[in-house]
Amino acid sequence: MAAPWVGRATRRLLEVSAVRGRLSRVYSTSHAFAEVLQLPKKQMTKLVYPLQDLEQYLVPDTRPDLHLRIYDPSLENIARADTIFTATARNRIDYVSSAVRLDHAPDLPWPEVCFIGRSNVGKSSLIKALFSLAPEVEVRVSKKPGHTKKMNFFRVGKHFTLVDMPGYGYRSPKDFVDMVEVYLKERTNLKRTFLLVDSVVGIQNTDNIAIEMCEEFALPYVMVLTKIDKSSKGQLLKQVLQIQKFVNTQTQGCFPQLFPVSAVTYSGIHLLRCFIANITGNLD
Ligand code: GDP
Repeated sequence: MAAPWVGRATRRLLEVSAVRGRLSRVYSTSHAFAEVLQLPKKQMTKLVYPLQDLEQYLVPDTRPDLHLRIYDPSLENIARADTIFTATARNRIDYVSSAVRLDHAPDLPWPEVCFIGRSNVGKSSLIKALFSLAPEVEVRVSKKPGHTKKMNFFRVGKHFTLVDMPGYGYRSPKDFVDMVEVYLKERTNLKRTFLLVDSVVGIQNTDNIAIEMCEEFALPYVMVLTKIDKSSKGQLLKQVLQIQKFVNTQTQGCFPQLFPVSAVTYSGIHLLRCFIANITGNLD
């Protein structure tokens, strides 16, 4: 019997030609993903489904201890998510405001997702990459660690709000815990927290500050593995397995999906957009 990843690869190949045709009619506003579909298959797979390269090492049959769930949406849903992230006159994507306290946060009616991580983990770069289809949106990318000292709110059309949380660790703001803790605990429309981990160094002691908050408030959260362009396939696999072991044994609220991304090659960015669109109820 064919291994599951072989079946998946073949299915994708068939899907590409079908989706290419439909895309030009249905999603004419999003040229970006149509271009991705023109790439050679191997390159396209690496860009869109970065974990697929490692999938043969991650199948449950060979790793019964591993509860990794690979997020595997259809190319059509990925294309739909890209249109949600594309700024148009009818789909405004804007920076809204910043806040240092929850009671200064904008009162917005949409579901919300937030991004949290150690300073220098690549958070601003990732948010910038997510918003690359809305080039007017200004996301500051620091040269020095620790510049994001406020919660920055961005609205994505009438779909959802995305919040860039202050970085923690080195030179984190003194009131980081007060600010972030209250937000995580009380923001009622918060649908998912994305906790960023650097793929080169893995989970650090300082990450416990965020993990403990998510666990304490029983928040639904997922881990995002940043800067994967810096790691070889072997290093990436090692990190994926280590993080998954940590998720399985040390956490309750962390979801078993892991999102490897690169803000340089854009690997994993389309998939993450799709996941965000999905959990905020925009692909139903
Ligand atoms: P933040 O402090 O978490 O917002 O981190 P930044 O987004 O400012 O990134 C910190 C440093 O890592 C910067 O020098 C970025 O250019 C670099 N960086 C961020 N993302 C990536 C990535 O995906 N790949 C590589 N190679 N470098 C990255």
